[in-house]
Amino acid sequence: EEIQYYRPTKAIINLRAIQENIIQLKKHLQSDVQIIAVVKANGYGHGDIEVAHAALKAGATLLAVATPEEAIHVRSHMPNVDILVLGASPASFASYAAENNIALTVFSKEWVRQVALLQVTNKLKLHIKIDTGMGRIGATSIEELQHLYEAIKSIKHIEVEGVFTHFATADEEDTLHFDEQVRLLQAMLQAIPVKPRLVHVANTATALVKDKKLQFDAIRFGISMYGLAPSHYVAENLPFPLKPAMSLETELVHVKELKAGQSVGYGAEYTAEEDVFIGTLPIGYADGLLRKLTGQTVLIDGKRTPIIGRICMDQCMILLPKAYTVGEKVTLIGTQQNVTISLEEWANKLDTINYEIPCIITNRVPRIYT
Ligand code: PLP
Repeated sequence: EEIQYYRPTKAIINLRAIQENIIQLKKHLQSDVQIIAVVKANGYGHGDIEVAHAALKAGATLLAVATPEEAIHVRSHMPNVDILVLGASPASFASYAAENNIALTVFSKEWVRQVALLQVTNKLKLHIKIDTGMGRIGATSIEELQHLYEAIKSIKHIEVEGVFTHFATADEEDTLHFDEQVRLLQAMLQAIPVKPRLVHVANTATALVKDKKLQFDAIRFGISMYGLAPSHYVAENLPFPLKPAMSLETELVHVKELKAGQSVGYGAEYTAEEDVFIGTLPIGYADGLLRKLTGQTVLIDGKRTPIIGRICMDQCMILLPKAYTVGEKVTLIGTQQNVTISLEEWANKLDTINYEIPCIITNRVPRIYT
């Protein structure tokens, strides 16, 4: 059922861009390498279910999320797809996971012992996480890995479907730490007696710019599925162009002339030096337009113009090049007449990475799919 939105602020998600990014990736991958679409954090803020459907249509075969709750959400909309929880799940989630064909990440013997006590009767799929140098979760030595494997094998109804690791510096030019991780990975894979169906170690950066051998059975495609490069270095070495999927738009809800000397917003921080036109936008920090974004430009009529004064919770003000009428479209992220404001531009302004930007656009902003 279509929801009626009254406020004109919206994030437009171009699902064809997501599909295009996957299709291009598929061409870059060796044959038979599967694509795990990473749809954690509500599809990096793009909408997990919509992205998941689009990704599967374009050739992804498995979905990855970060938490049990995210897996439950995806499963409630998609009864048949394979889902993997990448993060740590409490042992108490294992029964639900087994009943609902949700694969879990395992890295601790103690966790396996707790799962054994649950006497799960459906088959539980596990992916063993090895920590080769990310230092987050995972077995850190061959010995620890062997003990973990033995513990897993000693309980019933378990299938070790996968084994994986995560790289800390795949997106950097310097390969010292990365090579170290690859060396440890090779040694640890040797220590697993039976190769699981899915060895997967590559994130976006690894899949796009590293040795193709590291694609193994599957790659975990996150940031560049959404059309964003993992880093400046990867951006400069992309094997194919990426298409960003998210744009952020609103409309002028009020226009007025400010006389020289008059001011705008909390703290009366902006004062007009000459007579100017000011527009009010129905978007504020509660939507993810963080207060640090004051001064950031937006697009109106294909021209850049700055946000002025302090950004409010629900609204902000922009300088207008002329007296536009209420209802004029304003693009905060995206393109107007060949001028583009990228997520990277916001990330630079906020002194962070592009990954963080779609995640901070809050739920109050409806995601509209095209
Ligand atoms: N694999 C794991 C374990 C992750 O935590 C993430 C995201 O942080 C990804 C894959 C996807 O990484 P990227 O978005 O850089 O492709």
